[in-house]
Amino acid sequence: MKKCIAANWKMFKTRLDARETATALAALTADKLPADREVLIFPPFTAISAVREALGSRTGFGVGAQNFYPAEEGAYTGEIAPDMLIDLGCSWSLAGHSERRHVFKEGDDLVAAKTVFGLNKGLNIILCIGETLEQRKNGHLETVLREQLRTALLECSQKDLASRLAVAYEPVWAIGTGEVARNQDITEAHAFIRSQLLDIKPGHGEAMRILYGGSVKPKNIADIISLDNVDGVLVGGASLSAESFSQIVLG
Ligand code: PEP
Repeated sequence: MKKCIAANWKMFKTRLDARETATALAALTADKLPADREVLIFPPFTAISAVREALGSRTGFGVGAQNFYPAEEGAYTGEIAPDMLIDLGCSWSLAGHSERRHVFKEGDDLVAAKTVFGLNKGLNIILCIGETLEQRKNGHLETVLREQLRTALLECSQKDLASRLAVAYEPVWAIGTGEVARNQDITEAHAFIRSQLLDIKPGHGEAMRILYGGSVKPKNIADIISLDNVDGVLVGGASLSAESFSQIVLG
C-alpha cells in the first residue's frame, strides 16, 4: 500500500488561496512524486471544489473533507452529509481529529458513528486518535488508544477496510505545538496500534496504514517516515505552504 502524505488545512484559506497552493504544490511535485506515495489534501469545505479543480486528474493526489455529519440528509443546520462531499469530488474524510474531540467535544461514540456511516456511504476515512499529555503522564496511553480504536472499528465490516481506513496517531500535545514526539514514542505507540488493529480487525489489521501526525516538518519527515509501522503522515501547519508541504511530500 502507498505511503499516505496528508495535508489538514483546518480553517485556513479562501478558494483563491487554496487554488494557488494546490496549483503550486502540483507544479513543485510534478514528475517527482514517488510511485509508492499518495497525497491527500483536506481543505475547508468551501475550498474543496477549488482544490479538486486545481489538481484535475493528476495521479497520486486526492481530496478529502475534515468532517461530516453521520446522516443521509435532514434538519441538521450547519452540517454536511457524506453524499454532498462525494458530489464535490471528495474520496476521503477525517474523523475524530483532536480539534473535533477537544474543541467541539466529540466523544468516541460520535466518532465511531461517523467512521461507520462514512465508510458505508463510500468515503474512505482517516480515523484520528491520540492521548493528551495528562493521559500520557498518568500512564493511560494504551487504554486511551485501545478505547478510541475499538469503539470506532468494531462495527466496520467492509471487505476492503484495509485500503479504505487509515489510522492517524496524533498525540494531542504534539499538534500545532512544535513539540514532536520522540522517535521512540512514535515507534512504541504505532507498534501498540498495530497490535490492536490485528486484534480488533483480524485479516485487515496487518495492511491498514498508520499515519503519524504532530508537528511534522520538512526537517523531520525523513526520520519519521522511515520508522517501523509509520505508513504516512498527517500534517497541519507545515502543509499550508506549497513550498514546505512539497518538501514533506518528496522527503
Ligand atoms: C493536524 O492538524 O493534524 C496536525 C498534525 O497539525 P500540526 O502538523 O500543525 O501539528
